[in-house]
Amino acid sequence: MAGPRMPGRNFLFVPGPTNVPDRVMRAMMVAMEDHRSSRFPELTLSLFQKLKQIFKTETGQPFIFSGSGTGAWEAALTNTLSRGDKVLAPRFGQFSHLWIDLAQRIGLDVVVQDEEWGTGASPERIEEALRADRTHAIKGVLIVHNETATGVTSDIAAIRRAIDNAGHPAMLYVDGVSSIGSIDFDMDRWRVDLAVAGSQKGLMLPAGLGIVCASPKALAANKTAGCARTYFDFGDQMKANATGYFPYTPSLPMLYGLQESLGILFEEQLVHVFERHQVLADGVRSAVAAWGLKLCAKEPKWYSNTVSAIMVPPGIDGADVIDAAFRRYNLALGAGLSKVAGKLFRIGHLGDLNDLMVLGALAGAEMAMRDVGIDVTLGSGVAAAQSHFRSTIMAKEKRPTEQERFAQMHPEGVFHPQRAG
Ligand code: PLP
Repeated sequence: MAGPRMPGRNFLFVPGPTNVPDRVMRAMMVAMEDHRSSRFPELTLSLFQKLKQIFKTETGQPFIFSGSGTGAWEAALTNTLSRGDKVLAPRFGQFSHLWIDLAQRIGLDVVVQDEEWGTGASPERIEEALRADRTHAIKGVLIVHNETATGVTSDIAAIRRAIDNAGHPAMLYVDGVSSIGSIDFDMDRWRVDLAVAGSQKGLMLPAGLGIVCASPKALAANKTAGCARTYFDFGDQMKANATGYFPYTPSLPMLYGLQESLGILFEEQLVHVFERHQVLADGVRSAVAAWGLKLCAKEPKWYSNTVSAIMVPPGIDGADVIDAAFRRYNLALGAGLSKVAGKLFRIGHLGDLNDLMVLGALAGAEMAMRDVGIDVTLGSGVAAAQSHFRSTIMAKEKRPTEQERFAQMHPEGVFHPQRAG
């Protein structure tokens, strides 16, 4: 049932697509041009250089496909493996499930390691499986760095250590679709062989690009990989990319948008981008605690800085929260997918976002939760996040917090954070 358009901005808090900054939108409003002109390589070659900084790699080779994260998954696998090759893949959410499904459909033999949803990839189990694989039949380990369905981040450095401890030569494939550009991702340090990204999350663009970065080892594997591939073939790309061109017609608005969005990330500086995502995520988590609710992520070590999946109490359908938020308050929250459908709703907190925007989403989520009968105190989550954001800013500016000032003035007194605001 389509109602009238609601005035004001839609509060887009799904974990992708994310808000596209006005600067990026303007940069995408370009007249079409000849993508085979002598000037075109200036754009392409600089994009590849900048993408290497995003993946944090000196030796990796980025590929930009028109497509989305799923296309990038397929490109990473088909370019480096052959039908029947064995890969090891932990499964702990809808996106790790879908990547496994794709791998099976292209003919790979997937050894699935099921983990409880709300946890992530287990370095111990991975090491164990690789140690047991004496013939080195396993060619790759597939990890979703940030499982967007459950709000869980796995420890890629620990997984790299597990592979090394097992003395196993398997390549490391990492889906960074909802981490790259928001949570630290260090391709060279972690010796990731295939890193996968999409445009519509941390890169603050519409969906439309599937981006892959391949290590020298992955490029060597490409030479003998037998999986069928045409559109996503690395070889065709490399030939054209070397001189700054594409083998097929690229999406010019997306490329100009990418140039701008990477510029924005570098202006802020990646280290500060990651810090900002940490602060926003901690603010959301403090709100969830104030509501008396739980995250799907079972332990702090799994907490994601880009998406929080919030469990609704028994008897409540998470889809009703999402519907009330959307219809009444112009707020888009993420749904529970597959196994956790109805059991949770998700707040995406990634991309072009600041404290007040997150407070708006928390306020809307509180109202929607109350509307469907969840017993949360209006303002409680907002207040908790406000306190967190303010104390973070005070600490950064090296200013004493209200609590510290109060303690100086009233050494015997009891501090009431609510009254201090
Ligand atoms: N991987 C992760 C972690 C995702 O969150 C998504 C989409 O949300 C995908 C892969 C699939 O990407 P796309 O929908 O761009 O094909």
